[in-house]
Amino acid sequence: MEKVILLNPYFSHTIWGGKKLRDVFGYNEPGDDIGECWGISAHPSGESTAASGEFEGKRLSELWNEHRELFGNAEGDRFPLLVKIIDAEADLSIQVHPDDEYASANENGSLGKKECWYVLDCPEDAELVIGHNAGSPEELRSMVSEGRWDELIRKVKVKKGETIQIDPGTVHSITAGVCLIETQQSSDITYRLYDYDRLQNGRKRELHIDKSLDVITVPAPSLSEQIKECAQQEENSVLRISACDRYTVSKVKVSGEFSFKCDAGFVNASVIEGSGRVFDKDVKKGSHMLITAEGAKDIRMSGYMELIISYT
Ligand code: ZN
Repeated sequence: MEKVILLNPYFSHTIWGGKKLRDVFGYNEPGDDIGECWGISAHPSGESTAASGEFEGKRLSELWNEHRELFGNAEGDRFPLLVKIIDAEADLSIQVHPDDEYASANENGSLGKKECWYVLDCPEDAELVIGHNAGSPEELRSMVSEGRWDELIRKVKVKKGETIQIDPGTVHSITAGVCLIETQQSSDITYRLYDYDRLQNGRKRELHIDKSLDVITVPAPSLSEQIKECAQQEENSVLRISACDRYTVSKVKVSGEFSFKCDAGFVNASVIEGSGRVFDKDVKKGSHMLITAEGAKDIRMSGYMELIISYT
């Protein structure tokens, strides 16, 4: 069995996207509006494909459906996670995601969306929108219907290297200049609450006020539960940065030779800095890969690099 399968990403172009994914991460993608690189995705909205080897050209969903042994015979009707790099040249809309129960009932059986951000780069004094200031559902409704956005949204200063967990029901927005890697459930369900009255091709993008109000958690949970500063990390170590019932996310720092194992059927891995090798495959900043069940037992890396890995 192959131990690692390198993946070709899918790119999404958006009104808030920029050029960093090409200029900083080296992706060969044209356009000045590249918002997201879906590095590890089996979602029908945009899939990654095997870049080389026995399965070259196969979509990740095909591997999941036809070669479940690669994933340690994990259960489930779909590959559960999605890993993307997001470059926000402008503010994203202010949005919220449903949980599994709401999405399943209202969005054709989709998964809900729990997500975790690791900040790769951001301007000094960058602020993200995380949560809101309404004290009750009534107050939330009136702030939304009266357009009191400045009062409603909670802005939070963030720094490079911080991890932010965004549970379903959390109002959030990534703001201009922030680049991050997101590990999320494999879902593309976003309810847009406010889009700064921007126009795309002369029209405002659709808002989803009723569904947003259905799913927003009121009052918002405290920030201390959601934001974690990155601890100092030793060379050749695995640092867990987020764990919940849907995924575990860790940062791996490789300096020279490093091997470790993961108690998981498969591991998603993305290089966020530097270059090196994973088993016998050359990788560099921006590389995304699936480490299979066979590889996860004894993951071998070399070089000088940092990776974000995740598993269920
Ligand atoms: Zn989101």
